[in-house]
Amino acid sequence: MTGLTLLDNTPVRHRADPAAPPDVASMTLSELQAFLGALGEPAYRAEQVFRWLHRRGVASFSQMTDLGRALREKLQGAAVIGRLEVAQVQAARDGTRKYRMRTRDGALVESVFIPSASAADKNTLCISSQVGCAMGCTFCATGAMGLDRHLTASEIVDQVNRVWADLGAVNGGFVPDPSGEGSTRRLLTNLVFMGMGEPLHNVEHVLRAVEILTHEHGHQFSPRRVTVSTSGLLPQMKRLMAESDVQLAVSLSGTTDAQRVSIMPVNRKYPLGMLLAACREVPLKARRRITFEYVLLAGINDADEDATRLVRILKGLRCKVNLIPFNEHPLGAYRRPPRERTLRFQSLVRDGGINALIREARGDDIDAACGMLGGTTLDAARAVPASA
Ligand code: SF4
Repeated sequence: MTGLTLLDNTPVRHRADPAAPPDVASMTLSELQAFLGALGEPAYRAEQVFRWLHRRGVASFSQMTDLGRALREKLQGAAVIGRLEVAQVQAARDGTRKYRMRTRDGALVESVFIPSASAADKNTLCISSQVGCAMGCTFCATGAMGLDRHLTASEIVDQVNRVWADLGAVNGGFVPDPSGEGSTRRLLTNLVFMGMGEPLHNVEHVLRAVEILTHEHGHQFSPRRVTVSTSGLLPQMKRLMAESDVQLAVSLSGTTDAQRVSIMPVNRKYPLGMLLAACREVPLKARRRITFEYVLLAGINDADEDATRLVRILKGLRCKVNLIPFNEHPLGAYRRPPRERTLRFQSLVRDGGINALIREARGDDIDAACGMLGGTTLDAARAVPASA
């Protein structure tokens, strides 16, 4: 059964090759300053390199044209720049694009570009944090893969760079604004860590990636627009909220321990009561709320009593609920509730005083919708010759 890798503390790989030279694209600015300092370079050089890596997404040290040749050659011999290669892009009818990206060691991960259906200037990228996932949520295609390894910070961050490049964004992710006279706008406005993997199982690299993605010399995402989702790893959740300013999303999908254990095995280690108590202790800034995600599974957790219980257990929490009607896929044994049931569930939660939104499936014709990532990657990964 999946979900045991984490619970048994089985070691997982962090890097494809631990003996490889250090990856500068995985370093925070202060780490890069220390690295360059050890090479005898002043601190301002680190800012230059950091901007080349993360504002412009360059692939090689030779492209860093404001560094002297001697330094470029020194870096060439001392470090690498971690990058992904886009292996496949699929475009859905609704404008969603699913990217399958290959790591240096041949693993495949997926990212999903989701243009807003209502606002032309709001685009979200859903990014992955692991190759596979150990958590074994029974509704999720990624969970069926099990866990191969964590992604490094550069492998997380480079998903943004690859999508920028594919969609024509330059220098900090700007594209021409169709509405006006040479003006530009940010291609990506929002990031969600809701792709393949449990981000907080890989909290070290996720925190480092968040720092790079929100840094003024990095990708400059507002932390308000970066959401990290967790299935409920409590120690790591507390650490995330203490060390970053991102938005927190918690995957709930059940309102009793028995129900949630059958859907999300992590509930055995961190039961519902502990999870909700920890959520109540999260220090939230003004106008911030925790998002609870609730995958609606027909006949499993979509009854009126579930909605009523959901209202009861969330009472007093500053939160909203995203209802996600199950996206049917070959690896999942569940069914999507009928539309009327979903609407009824939503109105019961709203009547209980909690804002509840139905997350419409995006990109479901290319298996890019929530819970569907990795199902096809699983097949593709088997077809890729192992190079590591
Ligand atoms: S829902 Fe998230 S945490 Fe659960 S198995 Fe899928 S990727 Fe992992």
